[in-house]
Amino acid sequence: MSYKVTLIPGDGIGPEVVTATVRILEATGVRFEWESFAAGAEAYEKYHEYIPKELTASVERTHVGLKGPVTTPIGGGFSSINVALRKQFELFANFRPIINLPGVPTRYPGVDLIVVRENTEGLYSGIEHEVVPGVVESLKIITEKASTRISRFAFEYARRFKRKKIHAIHKANIMKLSDGLFIRCSRNISKEYPEITYGEHIVDNTCMQLVMNPYQYDMLLLENLYGDIISDLCSAFVGGLGLVPGANFGHECAIFEAVHGSAPDIAGKDMANPTAVLRSGILMLHHLGEHQAGRHIEAALAHVYTQKKHITRDVGGTAGTTEFADAVIDAMRTIAPPQPELQEVEM
Ligand code: ATP
Repeated sequence: MSYKVTLIPGDGIGPEVVTATVRILEATGVRFEWESFAAGAEAYEKYHEYIPKELTASVERTHVGLKGPVTTPIGGGFSSINVALRKQFELFANFRPIINLPGVPTRYPGVDLIVVRENTEGLYSGIEHEVVPGVVESLKIITEKASTRISRFAFEYARRFKRKKIHAIHKANIMKLSDGLFIRCSRNISKEYPEITYGEHIVDNTCMQLVMNPYQYDMLLLENLYGDIISDLCSAFVGGLGLVPGANFGHECAIFEAVHGSAPDIAGKDMANPTAVLRSGILMLHHLGEHQAGRHIEAALAHVYTQKKHITRDVGGTAGTTEFADAVIDAMRTIAPPQPELQEVEM
């Protein structure tokens, strides 16, 4: 049996980190049939479409995607392909686990925090216009439907995976209607989950609270823009953007991608850390029910990071992307896959 997966290598460091990840995923022995497509500027050059029809058809067929970052031009040009894909496939829940890796020293050891970000609306709706020259307007769309849906996702996850606390993050003191609606929906849903402690924190205070003491939080529930910003902040707790994975879930399909962008400053130099995309690939394995393979890579990763001989520059090493991937594959050959856990749940 093999899994058909839509592969979007992306651009910038995308192709390097995705190639490394694909090699490691295949080394588990799980069989994949990759359906690979360009997106963004590269796709436009070839097909005059930023998201080719073939890519869309592939995701509709496979229901699972693994994606590298796609560059978004700043201050003009085409709209974000990353955002467009999330909207197109109704991938309403962005899920980002912030968990330390053994062997990567950070200011905060033992962090285990989950960021759940609404993925389809807020200021990311991209509805902007010039009212008169020198005055522009950008609309923040918050709906009861999307706010309830993302809250339900967070609480259901917490129940299934026995998480203790959820904090809804907002600025409802200023944005009384939009953020007010978001927290009202979260509060309503929270009543159906009495075993999970529910709290609400204002977003600016949350930034300070996180830096002072990230351990006070268990799961954060945020609208789109706050989720984007807080995710990057939280990535620093565990060693930076090169390490933090992500998943975008909808009712029909899921696309797995790192929190980081295309990092043009280090693209094409075999310098990027593929761990974030690899850990996104591990989330994909768990989603597919391939828990044993996922845990095998996790054990190999822990070994490589603990040994410190083949780690990349962003975490204090000197290895390139390829050398790191080779080391993980070598470690998988020498380390037996961990025993299955008693009860494993598919995401
Ligand atoms: P976007 O807004 O598109 O998500 P971003 O603003 O988060 O992008 P990135 O492109 O992710 O920015 O890069 C931010 C910084 O983090 C850069 O200096 C980059 O070199 C570093 N970085 C990002 N990803 C990695 C990685 N996989 N390995 C090493 N360094 C990385």
